[in-house]
Amino acid sequence: MGLLTQGSPLNWENTKKYADYIRSHGIIQFINIYNNLKDRQKDVLKWGDEVEYMLVELDDKDEKVQLVLNGDEVLDTLQGQGEKINPNHPTLWRPEYGSYMIEGTPGQPYGGTMSEFNTVESNMGKRRREASSVLNQNEILCTITSFPRLGCPGFTKPEYPPTPFESGASKSLFFPDEAINHHPRFSTLTRNIRHRRGEKVAINVPIFKDKCTPSPFVETFPEDDGESARAALPDHIYMDCMGFGMGNCCLQVTFQACSIDEARYLYDQLATFCPIVMALSAASPFYRGHVSDIDCRWGVISASVDDRTQEERGLKPLKNDKYRIFKSRYDSIDSYLSNCGNKYNDIDLTIDEDIYNQLLGAGIDKLLAQHIAHLFIRDPLCVYEEKLQQDDENESDHFENIQSTNWQTMRFKPPPPNSDIGWRVEFRPMEVQLTDFENAAYVVFVVLLTRVILSYKLDFLIPLSKVDENLKMAQKRNAVKDGMFYFRKDIFKGCNPGLDGTSSAQNGLETDGANEEYTLMSIDTIINGQEGVFQGLIPILNCYLENMEVDVDTRCTILNYLKLIKKRASGTFEPQCCNIFSPEFFQS
Ligand code: GLU
Ligand code: MG
Repeated sequence: MGLLTQGSPLNWENTKKYADYIRSHGIIQFINIYNNLKDRQKDVLKWGDEVEYMLVELDDKDEKVQLVLNGDEVLDTLQGQGEKINPNHPTLWRPEYGSYMIEGTPGQPYGGTMSEFNTVESNMGKRRREASSVLNQNEILCTITSFPRLGCPGFTKPEYPPTPFESGASKSLFFPDEAINHHPRFSTLTRNIRHRRGEKVAINVPIFKDKCTPSPFVETFPEDDGESARAALPDHIYMDCMGFGMGNCCLQVTFQACSIDEARYLYDQLATFCPIVMALSAASPFYRGHVSDIDCRWGVISASVDDRTQEERGLKPLKNDKYRIFKSRYDSIDSYLSNCGNKYNDIDLTIDEDIYNQLLGAGIDKLLAQHIAHLFIRDPLCVYEEKLQQDDENESDHFENIQSTNWQTMRFKPPPPNSDIGWRVEFRPMEVQLTDFENAAYVVFVVLLTRVILSYKLDFLIPLSKVDENLKMAQKRNAVKDGMFYFRKDIFKGCNPGLDGTSSAQNGLETDGANEEYTLMSIDTIINGQEGVFQGLIPILNCYLENMEVDVDTRCTILNYLKLIKKRASGTFEPQCCNIFSPEFFQS
C-alpha cells in the first residue's frame, strides 16, 4: 500500500504545517523526473501482479474462524528465507494495512513472451505454499476480498477489545488498533485521516433484506458517544474506520510501457475497463457480519479513507479550506491522459492552479499537468521528520507521498529517479478471488487485453463521466448479470494515439442517441459479444491468439482462463467443489 520508511511520523497538526513544503518539493521532483525521462523509449513490456492475503485461523473445536494478527512475524520469516538471502528468489513479500495481511508478488516481473502466461498461476501457487508453510497449525492463507466477520466481537486472534474512547488511531467501536499493521505508517494514516476530516470516517453499506431482516434495520451502539449514532444510516451496515476498507484484499496488475506516450494511452484505455472487470471479479458481499446489498469493496474503501472536511465535501460553505473536492482520495480517475482522451474529459476537475501553471511553465503539456495538479490538491497524510530534507534531483519521496495516497482505479507511475524502471501504469479495481486459478485467469485476461489494445490500436474511450456511472453500477448486487454498462460500439475507429486527437473531436460527444459512439451493454455482451451490438472481448482475444505463436501447453492454459472469464460474464460459472480449507488444496 505504498511507501514504507523508517522514522517518526508527525501528527496531523505538524504534518499540516509541512503540507505546502512537501507539495512544492514533490512537484520539483516530478518535473525533474519528467525532464530526465520523458524521452525514454523502447522499454520492454514488463508486468507483474500483486495479491493480498489474509492470515486466518480455523478453530474446529470452538467452531471459530479468526484473523491472526501476526503478519509482521510471517513477513519477517518470508523475507528472511527469501529475498534477503537470494536476490533471485521467485517471490517477494510486503506488508499491508491489516496486521493479519501480507502481500505477495513474483520475484521478477514477467516479460513480453506468451509462454510466461503459463507461469503466473504456478508462481501464485509458490507464494501460497511458501507462506502457508510458515504458518502455525490450523492457520491458513486466504485470498478473500472482505473477511465476513471483520469488526465483529472477537474477530481477531488474539482477541482485543476496540478502544473508542482512548487516544487510539481509529477510535472505532468495532475494530481494535491491534488489527492495524504495526509499522507506524499505517496507524499514522489512520489517525491523520481522522484528524484531517475532523471526525471518524463513516461507511454505510446498504443491508441485504431477506424476510428475517428487521425493517427498518437500525442498530444501537452502547459504547458510542453520539458520533456513530449520527453517522449511521437506517437500513445500512455502519462502519467507522479505515480498517474496514484498507483491511480488504485485492488483485492488482502493473505494466511497464515502452514510453511515456504508450503508458498514457494504456492508462486511458484500461480506465474504461475498471468498472467492467470490477463487476466481473465482484467478491465481497459481507461486511461486519452482515449480508450487504453490494458485491464489491470499492465504495467501502473509498469511504474508509475519506479525509475530506465538511467544507470540502460541500456540507458547509468554504471558509477554512481551499477547495470543494468531489471524491475521496480512494476513487475513480478524474481525467484521461492521452491526447485521444482529451475530448472525453468531461468531469469537473479541481486542480491546484499554481501547481498547474508551474508544470505548464516547465514544458509539461496540459493533460499531464492537470492530472498532477489534481492529485496535488491533497495534503500529505504521513510525513517523517527525518525525511523532510531531500535531494530533489535524486529522490522522489515527496512526490510519492502525495501520489501513493491517491488510491485511484488506475495509477500513472513515473520511473523512480536513477533506476532502470520505465513509465508504468497500475490497474487497481479487481477483487481478489479464492483460488490461484481464478486470480491467474483475471490477471492473464487483463494482460492479454493490453496486448490486443496495443497491437490493434483499439480505442475503448467513452466520456469519463460514463465510466464513473459504470463504476457505481459495477458495485451493485448482481451487476455482473443484471447491470448495464456504457461501452464503446466501434473500437476499431478510434483516434490514432500518435496524433493529437483533434481530428475526430467533432463527433466525440454527440448527444443525439443514435449517433453516440457508445451504448449500454451487459457484461455478457461486452465479454462474449452479441450479434449486431458488439463483437465481444473474448472473440477478439481468441483472434489475437490464433495469430500468435504460442506453445500448445500455454495456449491450453490461456484458453482455460478465458473460459472462466466467459462463464463469469454469462453467469454460468460454477465454482469447483474444491475445499479451499483442506490441506490438499494447499499442496496442489
Ligand atoms: N487493499 C486495497 C484494495 O483492496 C489496495 C491497497 C493497495 O493499494 O495496495 O483496493
Ligand atoms: Mg497492496
